[in-house]
Amino acid sequence: DDRISRISSSIRVIPDFPKPGIMFQDITTLLLDPKAFKDTIDLFVERYKDKNINVVAGVEARGFIFGPPIALAIGAKFVPMRKPKKLPGIAYTLLVHSCNYYNLFSYLTYITSFSVFVICAFVPMTYYYTVSERGCWEVISEEYSLEYGTDKIEMHVGAVQPGERAVVVDDLIATGGTLTAAINLLERVGVEVVECACVIELPELKGRDRLGEKQLFVLVSST
Ligand code: 5GP
Repeated sequence: DDRISRISSSIRVIPDFPKPGIMFQDITTLLLDPKAFKDTIDLFVERYKDKNINVVAGVEARGFIFGPPIALAIGAKFVPMRKPKKLPGIAYTLLVHSCNYYNLFSYLTYITSFSVFVICAFVPMTYYYTVSERGCWEVISEEYSLEYGTDKIEMHVGAVQPGERAVVVDDLIATGGTLTAAINLLERVGVEVVECACVIELPELKGRDRLGEKQLFVLVSST
């Protein structure tokens, strides 16, 4: 497919970015070539248009570039999977940020806002935990390991419904940690992850193995 070779040659490789020893696959040059960008989206759309996909989940940040046009073309919703503390879940914001209150004024502000929150949220929270089990404002997160340390991605629980069928989109799979976390988040709330889709795979890092049984569709393999 000459579309693949066009896509492949539009990706720029930057040595030693973001740190020495890393050959960074730069997809911003692919975005500068409208034909290569369109071919990329078309190839994904051709693959997913007849697979009853309800959800395209894109991983921050570059999954936000490729995911939405695919979602629009196949008539699915787009769900962003974000880095920590970016999603505006109410419970999450008040509780997690409380640990950032250091001085007395901030502490009093926190106590006041927390009390108001507890009172105002008591009824809906009771409903949420007892009746509905789910809520559009709750954020769930999944941690995953990096070469050094860990990272996290988060999703609004109410963005998806149990039984929906999803494709997870990112620009690149390296070790597979990011995609595994995205799959776990979706499966924890009952979504069926049909496949993961990436523009680029770094096969040497064996990310595909980490995904186990889960299908992975990539356009370009890079050494
Ligand atoms: P993994 O979790 O599979 O080890 O790493 C994949 C994640 O890191 C993806 O979200 C991807 O955007 C980012 N990433 C790692 N290496 C590269 C790279 O060389 N180029 C780009 N564009 N993204 C990378």
